[in-house]
Amino acid sequence: MYDPTIPDLILSNANIITLDPVHPQAELVAIHGGKVLSVGHSRELNRLKGAKPKVIDCRGKTVIPGFIDAHLHLPSFAESLVTMDLGPRNNVCSISDIQGKIRQLSQKLPSGTWIRCGGYDEFYLREKRHPTRWDLDSATLIHPIKLIHRTGHAHVLNSLALKLTGISKETPDPEGGLIDRDIMTGEPTGLLYGMSDFLSKSVPPLDNHQLEHGIRLANRELLSLGITSIQDASPRNDIERWEMFKRWKAQGYLEPRVCMMLGVEGFKDYRGNDSSAKGGETYLRIGGVKIILDETTGRLNPGQTELNELVFTIHQSGLQAVIHAIEETSIEAACTAIEYALQKSPRSDHRHRIEHCSVCPEPLSKRLASLGVMVVTQPSFLYFNGDRYLQTVPHLQLKHLYPIATLMRNSVQVAGSSDCPIVPANPLIGIYSAISRMSETGKAVLATEGIAPLEALLMYTDYAARATFEEKIKGSITPGKLADLIVLNGDPTKLPADEIKDIQVEVTVINGKAVWDKKGLTNNPFFKV
Ligand SMILES: [Zn+2]
Repeated sequence: MYDPTIPDLILSNANIITLDPVHPQAELVAIHGGKVLSVGHSRELNRLKGAKPKVIDCRGKTVIPGFIDAHLHLPSFAESLVTMDLGPRNNVCSISDIQGKIRQLSQKLPSGTWIRCGGYDEFYLREKRHPTRWDLDSATLIHPIKLIHRTGHAHVLNSLALKLTGISKETPDPEGGLIDRDIMTGEPTGLLYGMSDFLSKSVPPLDNHQLEHGIRLANRELLSLGITSIQDASPRNDIERWEMFKRWKAQGYLEPRVCMMLGVEGFKDYRGNDSSAKGGETYLRIGGVKIILDETTGRLNPGQTELNELVFTIHQSGLQAVIHAIEETSIEAACTAIEYALQKSPRSDHRHRIEHCSVCPEPLSKRLASLGVMVVTQPSFLYFNGDRYLQTVPHLQLKHLYPIATLMRNSVQVAGSSDCPIVPANPLIGIYSAISRMSETGKAVLATEGIAPLEALLMYTDYAARATFEEKIKGSITPGKLADLIVLNGDPTKLPADEIKDIQVEVTVINGKAVWDKKGLTNNPFFKV
């Protein structure tokens, strides 16, 4: 008989950190129909097991709400998993390493096949510079090459790829982009900044089969990291992407819940289109509108007037403006645009967002707070890029770099994310970095901006849910909320900071169902009632 008060799954004997201030600690969580039914003491197990629910004995392990990554790029992540990694983590230390790996791959491919590779970081190359078209030409002349920079915002093409995409000495820089040129001859060097849009139109996309394979690999990776919800911030998201997300969901290739932001172009076409998804809004929904605001070409793009109007249009449509802003001047410009929209049409709790917010002095934090702007940032950049920041970021900026404690002290809501594939998606590394501010080699980056472990956990759960107005349905283990939770082999609020980054996710539960089980904890018959 159906009884909504009887659980179908119980996690017991657990150290549960609910992140719900009403009931912060528990030992048992009962789940029914994909939602949390109750939290309590293990002694309540006897009373609850009448209807023979499945019981997972957590053996004292820690249970927390599933992680929410508030900003990543799933299609690029999927692509990175099926293309060659030329980053430092794959032992690429020089331009000749890059040439060697491309040459090796090219020998297996018919001529004319596009070679896609990415993740290179000039800081970690012996030559301390970007490769050029001529460097890549020496690897192959008969395959076009698209090499993506670790940031995703710069590319290097070889001569054949330049020819096929129509980039020559005569090509003017496109709006917001920059074609690097030889100072003597004016010839393009192959290095292109801010030209992702241009290339997406001229380089053939990954074929569907490869992309789907990448999505399945990405799905597995996300579940193994305890990520139960993602917010996709890809600037090229549009209706076509939306249909792809719907397909990946329907096919079961993508299990975490998804909020897809629209790019600016996608937003223009979106109105009036069908935005419903099978399984309902909690599985797949459309969120804010992503604006890239940058100064790659030496001036703000888009300019202030255009930005004001764009943010106002988004504001009027009822969606969130999600503004990528790194430099202090860009963040100021984003604030000015949000202020403009709010003056013309006041609205409380709009939750417009600044993404990254990398260099932010305290007066600017106060301005963000007064406008009610949320910040979505990436603490794990400190871990993966910290050594580079310490060597290359000017002192005046370094002292305001990712100032998470200052932002929070000034009452700015700050959510955590990875920006994956820019850096790996592991939220526990982000949590470790938010607390310790340590780089991969153990150097502190502005240690005074470290925050408490509980705050760091909230950045990847409750605060990240707030970034899409979903705090009423997820982000804590609370009766009535979605049963998205994870079992960890260590307690991030109790372990020394150093050990947090090595905590493993043992079980990932989405909608009351275990979708990742590292050690068979959920299937061990010994632990069933
Ligand atoms: Zn991003």
